[in-house]
Amino acid sequence: MKITDVQACVIGRQEPDSGGSVWTFVRIYTDEGIVGTGECNSGGPGYSGFATKEAILAMKELMIGEDPFDINKIYEKLRRKGRYGGSSEAPLIFALTGIDNALYDICGKALGVPVYKLLGGKFRDKIRLYADCHFGDSDDPASFGEKAVAVVEEGFGAVKFDVDHTGVGRLDAFNWTVGAKEMSHIIKIVEGVREAIGWEIDLAIDCHGQFDLPSAITLAKAVEPLRLMWLEEPVPAENVDALAQVKASTSTVICTGENQYTKFEFVELFEKKACDVIMPDLAKAGGIAEGKRIAELADAYYIPFAPHNVSSPLGMMAACHVCASVPNFLFLEFHARDIPWWNDLCDGDKPFVESGHMVVSERPGIGVELNDEVAKTLLWNGDAYFD
Ligand SMILES: [Mg+2]
Repeated sequence: MKITDVQACVIGRQEPDSGGSVWTFVRIYTDEGIVGTGECNSGGPGYSGFATKEAILAMKELMIGEDPFDINKIYEKLRRKGRYGGSSEAPLIFALTGIDNALYDICGKALGVPVYKLLGGKFRDKIRLYADCHFGDSDDPASFGEKAVAVVEEGFGAVKFDVDHTGVGRLDAFNWTVGAKEMSHIIKIVEGVREAIGWEIDLAIDCHGQFDLPSAITLAKAVEPLRLMWLEEPVPAENVDALAQVKASTSTVICTGENQYTKFEFVELFEKKACDVIMPDLAKAGGIAEGKRIAELADAYYIPFAPHNVSSPLGMMAACHVCASVPNFLFLEFHARDIPWWNDLCDGDKPFVESGHMVVSERPGIGVELNDEVAKTLLWNGDAYFD
């Protein structure tokens, strides 16, 4: 089998509260008529949304004529060709991620097996999800608790809240010090959620890398009695030593990874003992194969694997195949409770999410396809559909 063509398009819409719901899809075509689709992060809708698509199309000629079963060779060929162009960083690594996922889709379809069977089989049939709740309906800590209870009643075994957008008076938009008033407010929110959901539901909080070192340490220590599942990205992602200082200062579980890419950046986190849990984004970090490599490296350090996920059902199912295939899977994020068209965008075994789980597809390939009709109505900023 040979690759004959590669196309990409950007689909999605930025809903309020939905975060990064603008996704890049890669389609790889073969001389045997099998077509694979992979999803990846768009490289920032805040810029244009098209950065990753441009990168995919720039790599196209290097893939034509290759055997799609040579997934690892194609990944290394594309990555090494761009080493001096930043191919381990966004958006080039996002492009590689979508390509890798599309190749797995082709190989699964060609062999008539779901992707997890190409990864050594599965440890579990159902992938446990936590719901990203963003924040309460108001800044009142009680509204965070009410939302948490509603989400738990839907069947989710864990919830996560953002604590970096409380709007309670920072010095200015560029200063990352959390003052006494904001810190007290954040702690009240987390205490309120814990009180509302009790002690048998896991609770995480996300700082989005928006706090400076002293603020991060103060918060991590203050929430120690609340037994968090994790505190996410307490400081920005670039300085792993600073994160290691936060972790060394507290018994609160520290998690990071959605802004780290490839096994190389995760090895640094492990070697520097900078976190307790990792959350690579499997639409950003390098693809299905690299995601599995990262999880297996984490397992050697007894570190749980809890991927970040803001994908469509297609990208989320690709992540599920990885989560099914590694022993140290903890939770997969579900970020789309507030996106009304999320289910309609794709075809597959529906509902995709039920009672806080996603069932790993048994269909050949990734097992979820774009619904062409719906997808065409959601093209980003006038983009063309795989053309
Ligand atoms: Mg996060």
